[in-house]
Amino acid sequence: MSFLSDPVASFGLDPSNKATPHHPASVDGMKITIVGSGDAFGSGGRAHTCIRLDARAATVVVDFGSGSMTAWQKLGFDSNDIDAVVISHLHGDHFGGIPSLLLHAQFVAHRRKPLLFVGPPGLKARLQDMLDLFFPGSPKADWSFAWQVREIPGGRKITVAGLSLETFDVIHSPGSMPTGMRLSDGKHVFAYSGDTAWTDVLYAIAADADLFLVECSSGDEPIPNHLHWPQLKSKLKGFSAKRIVVTHLGPSAIAKIPEMQAAGLSVANDGLSLDL
Ligand SMILES: [Zn+2]
Repeated sequence: MSFLSDPVASFGLDPSNKATPHHPASVDGMKITIVGSGDAFGSGGRAHTCIRLDARAATVVVDFGSGSMTAWQKLGFDSNDIDAVVISHLHGDHFGGIPSLLLHAQFVAHRRKPLLFVGPPGLKARLQDMLDLFFPGSPKADWSFAWQVREIPGGRKITVAGLSLETFDVIHSPGSMPTGMRLSDGKHVFAYSGDTAWTDVLYAIAADADLFLVECSSGDEPIPNHLHWPQLKSKLKGFSAKRIVVTHLGPSAIAKIPEMQAAGLSVANDGLSLDL
């Protein structure tokens, strides 16, 4: 019997244990749900990065870090809700949860509809490596649904599940192929920094967006490849986004939440839901 041939017995999963249906965005709106707002270390008990976008056309998830499948289900979400997953960069706290998502789709949700993954060059190979490492044999599974990976670098504009996706090169560990992005349904724009050190590209990513989700990993002290609060604070006047939400918070950044709020920003927490 192969690794994937007797899933429920193998994993002790109860196929009748369905998640509560999620209420999607209003007819013409876009709903953003922060599934995970933590840094790579899970600081403050926050889950790794994962953001759900419910638009009229589709439900798209931005990033799916390790443990996101748990955080997803804590909110009553089902993997069958997802039409596409867009990955900002190839670090475990942003894409390490995909193997569990695929297994949930196969064994618990009994998925039939296709699932698309979009991300930087290298995503496909690293995803296959991850599957084989975490669940040996799974890359050759007889999947109950079609899934594919589409790799795009920064600086491209494509359509994903009926939404417009524009990617931007940002500054982070080079091997992670870091990008920021804008996702739009034609009426609303969700913008996201990804993980990055300061770059003026963030102004372009955030330009006139309905919501700009920006990382701020550190409080007072600068750290490589990330933003810290004094730096972000000094740049705020340059942003034209209607609303700025801070995420990817490390311990010292969590201590600065009152200051961030006093500066007019919103601060993400796991489960925060915002209507655009
Ligand atoms: Zn990160």
